[in-house]
Amino acid sequence: MMTRRIADILKNGQPDESVKVQGWVRTKRELKDFAFVEVNDGSSMANLQVVLNPDLADYATVIKQLNTGASVEVEGVLVESPAKGQRIELKASSAKVFGEADPETYPLQKKRHSFEFLRDIGHLRSRTNTFGAVFRVRNACATAIHNFFQERGFLWIHAPIITASDCEGAGEMFAVTSFNLDKVPRTEKQEIDYTKDFFGRPAYLTVSGQLEAEIMAMAFSNVYTFGPTFRAENSNTSRHLAEFWMVEPEMAFCDLQGDMDLAEEFLKYIFKYVLETCAEDMEFFNQRIDNSVLATADNIINNQFERLTYTDAVKLLEKADKKFEFPVSWGLDLQSEHERYLAEEKFKKPVIVTDYPAKIKAFYMRLSDDEQTVRAMDILAPKIGEIIGGSQREERLDVLEKRIEALGMDAKTLWWYLDLRRFGTVPHAGFGLGFERLVQFMTGMANIRDVIPFPRAPLTVEF
Ligand code: ATP
Ligand code: MG
Ligand code: MG
Ligand code: MG
Repeated sequence: MMTRRIADILKNGQPDESVKVQGWVRTKRELKDFAFVEVNDGSSMANLQVVLNPDLADYATVIKQLNTGASVEVEGVLVESPAKGQRIELKASSAKVFGEADPETYPLQKKRHSFEFLRDIGHLRSRTNTFGAVFRVRNACATAIHNFFQERGFLWIHAPIITASDCEGAGEMFAVTSFNLDKVPRTEKQEIDYTKDFFGRPAYLTVSGQLEAEIMAMAFSNVYTFGPTFRAENSNTSRHLAEFWMVEPEMAFCDLQGDMDLAEEFLKYIFKYVLETCAEDMEFFNQRIDNSVLATADNIINNQFERLTYTDAVKLLEKADKKFEFPVSWGLDLQSEHERYLAEEKFKKPVIVTDYPAKIKAFYMRLSDDEQTVRAMDILAPKIGEIIGGSQREERLDVLEKRIEALGMDAKTLWWYLDLRRFGTVPHAGFGLGFERLVQFMTGMANIRDVIPFPRAPLTVEF
């Protein structure tokens, strides 16, 4: 008999149907004449209740083995459930235990565990309700992202992980080396001799696939990346990881306006998709994690995002009757507390801030006619702050060359990037969405480490 997923049985199963399920025991209740076992296979939040009778072969042994955490295969017949809150249950005709879990040492006890504790047992936390829901929602977000772009004719491109260019120019790159770190070859001046390294020059883990996406957009018009990116920055915050996933669409023949419109439509689309496909999980987050989760989703889907310039944002922040930790003044970057104030308190919805000072933004952004600001946009979300960063790109060769020179960057290493402006240049734009920040925003989870299966961050961290 084919194994059926529990989500499917709970939704579509009919009385008298014979089924086989496989999963892990969540709870066991022994009564005088029979036992109830709740089984979960990860396909849904809800468990399937299995009823075991003493006429089952090896009843006594099986019941003894079926403790929380044990893996089991059950065959039987579906029956209407007399219990409240569940439509159907499984009357077992056979049960096979694959692996027991000792109740004395199994770390997941029948109580609420703190997320900090669960991070320490990352190999088991996916068996809890919260992490089951998180990773199902994460999967739905990823599906929605691909659907959104594929429906619109975007090409999914695969940017390299190992690269030589620091796209953001922020010096947050992890070096990649084949050297044995105890015996790194040095030059006579005691510098590291990269000519002897694997690539013959310094190499790094990518901080963004944008520059490669631009290359591909200059042939395919509309493309997107969706892959891991790495930053050696302060990850001791609740919204930074050393390894995170980014979604980066890049559109040829597109300006900042088109970029913002696409980003807003994109976020609305993902929220709609997740509400439709993960209703039960979203309900759970709303009840157990953050009681504004469903209202936030509704807000995203049904309201236009607020749009304002950086200059106006700074004015609002200067006028705010709130004490900020970090200073606000034209020319300084917005900090997360400022971003959150705008989205959470001032406008109570996502805010798109545009036209940032050129000085605080990356070299590739399109300089405006005032020569002080660039056509950049950040989307700020309540509770999170920046969730998307995007811009129109500088398509004019002479302006770009001047910018690269002014920043002291090496134009020679960017010859290919400049070539794109030499041959058939077009206005183009794109943005980067932090995938984990999206999942955080959607689920209400407070810490970004709890929305990625295997968080990468410095070990010595206290929260
Ligand atoms: P922040 O100001 O929060 O440090 P950023 O401006 O440095 O972000 P960008 O270079 O604009 O980040 O990257 C695009 C998006 O990637 C951000 O809007 C954010 O959603 C996400 N992101 C950036 N850094 C991280 C990180 N360390 N961990 C998780 N997501 C990140
Ligand atoms: Mg940063
Ligand atoms: Mg930022
Ligand atoms: Mg940014």
